[in-house]
Amino acid sequence: MGDTVFDLKGFIEILNKSSSFDDLKLALETYKEDLHISKLVLKTAIDSCELVLNKNSLDVPSFSYSKNGYDYLFYKVNDNYEFTLDDANNIEALLRILAMEHQIVISEKKLVDSELYSHQANIYNVTGYIKKVCSMNPDYSKYNSYYINLKAFGLINRLFGPNEGDYAIKHYAKLLNDFANPDEAVGHLGGDNFVAFIKRFRHEEFVNLASKFTIKLKNKANELEEITLSGVIGYYEFENNQLVNERLISYPAMACQYARNNKKPIIKITKELIESVNSVKDIEKKFKYELNKGNFVIYYQPKFDIVTSKIFGVEALARWHKNGEIVSPGVFVPILEKNGEIIDLDLYVLETLCRDIRNYRSYGYKIVPASCNISRRDFEDPNLEDKIIRIINEYGILPGEIIIEVTETSNLEEKDRLAKFIEKMNKNGIYTSVDDFGTGYSTLSVLRDFKVNEIKIDRSFINRKIEDSDKIIIGSIINIANKLKIQVVFEGIETIEQAKFVLSLGCSRAQGFLYSKPLPKLEFEAKMQEIGTIYD
Ligand code: C2E
Ligand code: MG
Ligand code: MG
Repeated sequence: MGDTVFDLKGFIEILNKSSSFDDLKLALETYKEDLHISKLVLKTAIDSCELVLNKNSLDVPSFSYSKNGYDYLFYKVNDNYEFTLDDANNIEALLRILAMEHQIVISEKKLVDSELYSHQANIYNVTGYIKKVCSMNPDYSKYNSYYINLKAFGLINRLFGPNEGDYAIKHYAKLLNDFANPDEAVGHLGGDNFVAFIKRFRHEEFVNLASKFTIKLKNKANELEEITLSGVIGYYEFENNQLVNERLISYPAMACQYARNNKKPIIKITKELIESVNSVKDIEKKFKYELNKGNFVIYYQPKFDIVTSKIFGVEALARWHKNGEIVSPGVFVPILEKNGEIIDLDLYVLETLCRDIRNYRSYGYKIVPASCNISRRDFEDPNLEDKIIRIINEYGILPGEIIIEVTETSNLEEKDRLAKFIEKMNKNGIYTSVDDFGTGYSTLSVLRDFKVNEIKIDRSFINRKIEDSDKIIIGSIINIANKLKIQVVFEGIETIEQAKFVLSLGCSRAQGFLYSKPLPKLEFEAKMQEIGTIYD
């Protein structure tokens, strides 16, 4: 057996340090017959612990022996015993076998440990972290659990390369780990995600440490560059001494995700937040089913002519009827936009609207141009236009009866896509409108670049303090739009003063609570009967 297979020196060191010789005793018992070690040596070996040859011993060895580069010095415990070469040989062989055994045990232990450690960060991984926390048997009510994600870490990897990225991860892991006391725990979940279980009274200190660190990294030109990285922190304060697993990692993870989405450095998870996150999951899970069941319904908000107070159009706005509760689009639209399912809702709203228009026509009712909203995300579907045109044709909708509302964009690629969309709609007699006008970046260029039929000036223009410069800007937008025969609608008109003001700027079309809230279908029909349209 070569020395490389096992580390005899390391083994001897361990034996010298070890206080428990139980394993050794057991091993000696097992091997003594094979090795013909005399009873006396065996006794000597076990009781004196001198089996390990201690060069630092002040005693004079009674016998010395060298083999395979190791020096063995034998010390007498029993004065009557004289070591023989055979003894030495046997003991040396025994040591080797034990060292090998020991090596196996160590490597098995390492294997177990490696399942508990993150090699990238040299601290516990998720399993190790949970195990460590549970093994401490702590009073949870005195702790906070944390989840930390390093901000813009992808950028570090790109700018400095993965090796430097790894170095930063190790560095940060060490910072956290050095901070943690034995009754606390820190773990690395992979990537740039960390967890920590810290005594509550140390919260501030921990947050100070974890939220920012500075490190020198080698850039691609091999120069050291000092950069500061931030940790986005989500945390949970245990309310009682009870560990429900999700509270250790999922709750702070939820808070961290929420903090990232909302560009906050730190968020504590609360009941309300958990509910809102769960409702996201709820929407994602139930959307298709609820849509098919007809639980997404359309509300109709009429648009009014300010001068005559008559209806000139209507906007379809989605609502979710969820177990008797009405959920507003502000809740579900962003979620469906995120997971890309918004197009299903938008086409559903469009189709429902088209069906209504066809029905109204067949009943001989009045019809006003009806708008529906298309999310920017829908443009990712290259067949969006065809899908819209197919629906509109299927229901025999006439030009100008449907208006598709889109929103502005500053992204050039998206702009190109939007221009193509508007052009195709134009060709097919479908009107388009720019919603939330003025909240984007391109405002005036929209009028120049896109042949839209309508712009809807965003509510934020009317519900803030209007400066003189605003008046000039909005006034000239309205002026230009009028000249280009683009209809201007003011959104969010809530008071007569606002209506008058809008009129004074040259805009006579408004949508807002002053005139009507979005209404369920039957109420909208009643309103149409009651008020009448400008087309009467
Ligand atoms: P939007 O398209 O700009 O629709 C106008 C929103 O302003 C509606 O909110 C409406 O209820 C609200 N509003 C109208 N007048 C007033 C007012 O005088 N005061 C105030 N405070 N609010 C007023 P809603 O229905 O909650 O919809 C919010 C947004 O959700 C919509 O803004 C639209 O962007 C989106 N949305 C609604 N339905 C759909 C849909 O089917 N598909 C897509 N993609 N988005 C939709
Ligand atoms: Mg709209
Ligand atoms: Mg709007």
